[in-house]
Amino acid sequence: MRVTAAFSRLLRLPGVWVRKVRFEPGMVVVEVALKRRRLVCPLCEYSTAARKDTRPESSVWRHLDLGVWRVEVHCRRRRLWCPEHGARTEGVPFARPGSEFTRDFECLVAWLATRTDKSTIRRMLRVDWDTVGRIVARVCASELDPGRLDDLYDIGVDEVSWKRQHKYLTLVVDHQRRQVVWGREGSGQAAADQFFACLDPPPQDAAPEPVEQPYRTPEPAIMIPFGPCPTVPAAHGTPGAWLEPGLELEPAILARASRLRAVSMDMGPGYAKSVREHAPQAIICIDPYHVVQLANQALDEVRRAYWNELRSLGDQQAAKRFKDSRWSLLKKPEKLTDQQAATLTRLKAAGGEVSRAYELKEAVRGIFESGLSIEDVSALIDRLLSRLARSRLEPLVRLSRTIRKHRAGILAAIRLGINQGRTEALNNKVRLITRRAHGFHSAKAALALVMLTCGPITLHLPHELHALGIA
Ligand SMILES: [Zn+2]
Repeated sequence: MRVTAAFSRLLRLPGVWVRKVRFEPGMVVVEVALKRRRLVCPLCEYSTAARKDTRPESSVWRHLDLGVWRVEVHCRRRRLWCPEHGARTEGVPFARPGSEFTRDFECLVAWLATRTDKSTIRRMLRVDWDTVGRIVARVCASELDPGRLDDLYDIGVDEVSWKRQHKYLTLVVDHQRRQVVWGREGSGQAAADQFFACLDPPPQDAAPEPVEQPYRTPEPAIMIPFGPCPTVPAAHGTPGAWLEPGLELEPAILARASRLRAVSMDMGPGYAKSVREHAPQAIICIDPYHVVQLANQALDEVRRAYWNELRSLGDQQAAKRFKDSRWSLLKKPEKLTDQQAATLTRLKAAGGEVSRAYELKEAVRGIFESGLSIEDVSALIDRLLSRLARSRLEPLVRLSRTIRKHRAGILAAIRLGINQGRTEALNNKVRLITRRAHGFHSAKAALALVMLTCGPITLHLPHELHALGIA
């Protein structure tokens, strides 16, 4: 077998044949040529036999390593004129447009990025982390299920911090599929508004093209007195002949936002405002996870105040003991290490404000225990609210006011089955991934990694794709 034929089979690049192979220090350079004669636009289906000019463009892609050898694929590409995209260098079937890596290489990077840490990937594949970010963004843009915003009924909107401070990503979770289906940089009402704009995009051409005046204005179809007429589109101010006088068809009948049953969120005003505007029929639920988080914050405030007091009294020993106690108090009791459990026992035995605040925090968690009926929870919340209000601990009194304000939303979440167990696992996964994405320079890359890991997509390894015949 000739070397070129052997490399054709080894590399399995679709749509090309191998012209030449040469070895350079640490690297195999494989020159390939496209099998097809016609030029294809890299961004659309357009193909043509005509070249724009005779200037060829030499392009290089990195392919999967062969043993310890890096593999570079070289190809001379022609240029074409696409009526939609203008002058372009022709697309190749083995790489995404604009990429310096083959699809197989990108597919390996994306698979690893969703499963392992930054330094492993950088060392194993010999690529820098921002390159990983760009690859992940490309794979996400081309592979994500385009129908992911269809059939949404129960969703959650939440923000997650990205990079150190005050940078947020807003994510929309489909509670039924337990997947992240949408994400954008930013937080609050503006971010949620953008989600609704994607869910029901506004009409492309807001100003309709002027049409020639007909010689006679046609009678509006709705004037037909014989009941529903299928040709009448549902739109604002369409008084359908079959409707009661005064009633109009809402354009929302066709909108995907109008199918939302419940939207869960935190207790801030931003997301709620957006949902009330765009999906007024949806029930606003409070994610149990946020209520517990707020209780933890209140407990931590009490602990810090107490610690500062001890320190100002010069009790060095006790102050030290308290500093270590943070995680003993905030973690779930069943997840404590032996030493943390011992610290917790000591804190409880010591009594006082911190111990009382801890009991109340656990009582907040208790509301969301599985297996409780809605009546149980309702009674538990009322008892909890009066205990919090009587606690004489300012952070906990504040907590009681917040919970009271959102009582209906908390109960709605439990009634609709948006419980802590269901949301927490996905939440933890998202937080783990955003920490890994801290090294990226763009929010787009961070979002792409979240979507690839927690979204509606199945990533395969190169050999699996070849076995499935997808590549
Ligand atoms: Zn094109």
